[in-house]
Amino acid sequence: MSQPLKLKRRNAAVLCSIWPDGFESCILFSDLRDACPCAHCIGEEVMGQKVYIGRKVFAPGMNELVDLKPVGNYAIQALWKDGHDSGIYTFDLLRQVFVNKKLSAETLATIDDEIHR
Ligand SMILES: [Zn+2]
Repeated sequence: MSQPLKLKRRNAAVLCSIWPDGFESCILFSDLRDACPCAHCIGEEVMGQKVYIGRKVFAPGMNELVDLKPVGNYAIQALWKDGHDSGIYTFDLLRQVFVNKKLSAETLATIDDEIHR
């Protein structure tokens, strides 16, 4: 999968993307955070067993996206307000999240409404 042409923050809760094949999608920051692929979030195989280093509990700011940084030409790294920054999202993974978690136009309109109120 090639990289997104555009990754753009729509508002305080939503990230939008445009891809070379014309696919467009917006997702919630929280869905991106949920998909964090780092060992802390998804667990690590240790001697054939899944070991979770940290538990997924709510931390203030954990779903607030601070920055997205390019990693080489294959991935982006997300920095979250709770300080978590070990998640490297390959473009394949990113595309998967944007496909699976795509917000409908109605949901987007509702979120815009709530945030601007
Ligand atoms: Zn993580």
